[in-house]
Amino acid sequence: MDPKSVIRLSHCDKDIYCFFVPDQCPECGVSFSGKRLEEAPVSVPSPFSNGHKEPCAFLVASTEDSVLRDFDGSSDLHTGITNTSGIVYNYTRSGVQREAQGWERCVCVPLVQPDMFSLMSQWDQYLEKFSCAHSWDPSCHSFNEESHNCYSYSLTFINCVLATQSKPALSKDEFTRSFVLPRIKRASKYLMLCREISQNHFYIVDSPRRNSGEGPSEDEDSKNK
Ligand SMILES: [Zn+2]
Repeated sequence: MDPKSVIRLSHCDKDIYCFFVPDQCPECGVSFSGKRLEEAPVSVPSPFSNGHKEPCAFLVASTEDSVLRDFDGSSDLHTGITNTSGIVYNYTRSGVQREAQGWERCVCVPLVQPDMFSLMSQWDQYLEKFSCAHSWDPSCHSFNEESHNCYSYSLTFINCVLATQSKPALSKDEFTRSFVLPRIKRASKYLMLCREISQNHFYIVDSPRRNSGEGPSEDEDSKNK
């Protein structure tokens, strides 16, 4: 599924989400043709990106709505880490895979700031060396759904990188709560919007900006940027 992009427009103190600007307001029926909307429609940015175009990032591969909704850090999402050319390293039962395709629709957590040149220059070496360790060799250690899986592989790598930067390690809970869950929630909400719009043409909610006296309030999407 490659969803159309979602746009949001405001009318009648409602936020109206849709794929196309309608001819008339679905709430009050007023015709939009030849008229200016009070606010220009804005596009709602997709929370998904092509993982192969996101160097040095943590990726979550699932595009399944239900899996995203129930995600708690232990469910069966598949995760991986990209190198600087967008090859996705991911740990499976048969060891570490290096994939140049298949991760085109991901939730992505960038791991390197654009100015971290020295880290970036060593990234591929770190990742390759890390992936060749005994821990991820199926003949030494076996994959475990709960405790030795793609998520632990990715997080252990992130912690190795943090150690090289003299930064403290992240626990699984911290990483999940701070970096993964907010993005997963956004993705899940976006998928819900797409589903509603596909079924009903519109998804309409009370505008949260209605009562704030200070102009358009920050919405979740811009806060998470
Ligand atoms: Zn209206």
